[in-house]
Amino acid sequence: MSETQNSGNISSVAETASPSAEHNGVGGSSTVSVGPEPATAVPKRERRKQPRISDTPPMAPPPPRLDDYEPIIGKPELDELRFLATVLKGKSVKMVNSTAVGGGVAEMLNRLVPLMAELDVTTHWDVITGGNDFFEITKAFHNALHGGSYELSRQAQEAFLATNEQNRQRMAFEEDVIVIHDPQPAALVSSKKDHPGKWVWRCHIDLSNPNPGVWGFLRPMIDQYDAAIFSSPKFARQLAIPQYLFYPCIDPLSEKNKELDESYIQKVCDDFGVDRSRPIVTQISRFDRLKDPVGVVQAYKMARNYVDCQLVLAGGGASDDPEGAVVLKEVQEAAGDDPDIILLELPPWSALEINALQRASTLIVQKSLKEGFGLTVTEALWKSKPTIAGAVGGIPTQVIHKLTGVLVHSVEGCAYQIRYLLTHPEFAKQLGKNGHEHVKENLLMTTNVRRWVLLFRILLGLA
Ligand code: UDP
Repeated sequence: MSETQNSGNISSVAETASPSAEHNGVGGSSTVSVGPEPATAVPKRERRKQPRISDTPPMAPPPPRLDDYEPIIGKPELDELRFLATVLKGKSVKMVNSTAVGGGVAEMLNRLVPLMAELDVTTHWDVITGGNDFFEITKAFHNALHGGSYELSRQAQEAFLATNEQNRQRMAFEEDVIVIHDPQPAALVSSKKDHPGKWVWRCHIDLSNPNPGVWGFLRPMIDQYDAAIFSSPKFARQLAIPQYLFYPCIDPLSEKNKELDESYIQKVCDDFGVDRSRPIVTQISRFDRLKDPVGVVQAYKMARNYVDCQLVLAGGGASDDPEGAVVLKEVQEAAGDDPDIILLELPPWSALEINALQRASTLIVQKSLKEGFGLTVTEALWKSKPTIAGAVGGIPTQVIHKLTGVLVHSVEGCAYQIRYLLTHPEFAKQLGKNGHEHVKENLLMTTNVRRWVLLFRILLGLA
């Protein structure tokens, strides 16, 4: 859903707050520090190094093969998957979404597409294009569908439909199944009348309380599909078409989630000025108000009155999220000149760095106010991290309170849990362990491939 266009700026708050701070991100004075001194008293100025993150995307590693998952899920599971897909041999699928990089949907498609191909289901992936005005409108739709107030104008409707129409005209829809992801390309379904394939709308967002204007505009489009997929029963709407439940997933072999060498984790922390001798609390998220980064800063500051820790907030801007820069500024203001708050604005090809930051973290926070499924939570649990997350969207499916993590409803609650988990490491460790098992059972890419295979069989009458 998001795509960053920046070139990997690292924004240490200390740097922005202190005119004398050096350009290499060396922090200013630590006068705001309220916690105890670090165990190893390395002067802060020496800890802020020049991050060596590339400003162009690195070569993508080859995608994993199905066999590569055997050590993780076992041979019987893999054999079953291959068997289920046999009847789909020669069938074709097209997936359409609104961004090629960044955000949960693109991450998932990047893996799903080659795995389906390996099962002999030819799978194409198309991305719609649009101008800033279109993505501003779809961002507003996104927020409104999450329940925000929004006055839907005729102009916005026309601009939405016009961009969909331009994309529709340049795309072909010859496949047996067309899967449209999220609202941005939803109107492409007007091509259905000319193509005999089955059309599926895969909704990744929480539609439990949508703005009536925007939903009223989209609903007639959605009813033209042959099926809709939601990420949680809570997200679904009353529709005239069959609905399916697909939990999202992560790929345990992706750059974002694979095991990393300890030396690499250390290098990333050194580069970003993160001190591993002290507790690290991290939220990885786009700078979006619904992710409540300012609330995370406030919670950290409250907890910091009682326990020592650093806060890492890492995320990117987004090509379909013009608010990103504004929100980042708000976070910088909330952070003030605290040198233990490390704000990282990362380019979209930072999967390895994000993986390393997550693995280096003592706790992971995802204090969203509204959420789709919250793949960052899945990623954190997979890495066995004690996780504190807002009880919204798909998060409670993943974080079972006090079993696989802890759920929070406020800044104060988040602050309390940061303090509690940092001072109860055995409990925190158990949460992390349980979280890992939960993801392994329910939320891995291979489970997702299996769900698609079963759905295609149903839609194509091959079940
Ligand atoms: N992510 C990323 N770079 C960022 C911020 C997030 O690659 O700067 C990744 C994050 O690790 C996760 C996904 O983007 O895999 C975000 O998915 P999620 O469902 O948590 O939120 P969304 O951004 O889709 O609302």
